[in-house]
Amino acid sequence: MDKTYLIANWKMQLPLKEAISLAKEIANASVGFTAQAEIVLCPSFDSILMVAEELKNSSIKLGAQDCFWEAEGSYTGEISPKFLAEAGVKYVILGHSERRQNLGENNHQINLKIRAALSVGLIPILCVGETFEERQEGRKDFVIMQQLNHSLHDIKLLTNDFLIVAYEPVWVIGSGQAVDPEEAEHTSQVIKQTLFDLFGTEIYKQQTAVIYGGSVNPNNFKSFLEQTTIKGALVGTASLEAETFTEMIKQTS
Ligand code: PEP
Repeated sequence: MDKTYLIANWKMQLPLKEAISLAKEIANASVGFTAQAEIVLCPSFDSILMVAEELKNSSIKLGAQDCFWEAEGSYTGEISPKFLAEAGVKYVILGHSERRQNLGENNHQINLKIRAALSVGLIPILCVGETFEERQEGRKDFVIMQQLNHSLHDIKLLTNDFLIVAYEPVWVIGSGQAVDPEEAEHTSQVIKQTLFDLFGTEIYKQQTAVIYGGSVNPNNFKSFLEQTTIKGALVGTASLEAETFTEMIKQTS
């Protein structure tokens, strides 16, 4: 059976103490509810080791919000995927729209990061999505296919590799208003088709998953899970409160 993913992106929202206490609350509250689902917390880098400590006796996994494309070297300020893996990180968000917009991160850089992440056994969570203008111009599917084709160019998924693609319409992130789940399902199918074209049947079936992100909360999460190809959610705002996030964890079982 396919796994369900519930992935928390804490962004740069929580100072250390708050991150630790939220991780503790979520770990405690989720006992017994995680069997069917892969629950992942992606704290900011400054709290990642302390959050790892809180999660070590739980089934909740650790994720990072970015990584660099080299494993080590003279790269001031960058974060090594290799060191992240050694610290117990299993997942890494790559190509988030906030990084594309604020830092000018491009598909070529994201491609290098995905390769680096895979090479040390991390599971990339590749974010793709259209802006409001691109949507209005009728270019949504094209933009998403282009992001996928460029950021996954020439990448091979080896036997133990796995790739998650998060469809995140840029214009709904943090807005409180998610897109219609059926529309997200249509886009998810476009993503699946592109993954099929890139990787072929077996890898596409066994080693990739598509999730949705953008104003997911306990009131709408289920309606995304009910869709055929959407296998979970990447959650920002609603992952910052123990109550709302654990409510969503319960909905995965
Ligand atoms: C995100 O930034 O990845 C996200 C999904 O945020 P929110 O849930 O707040 O829209």
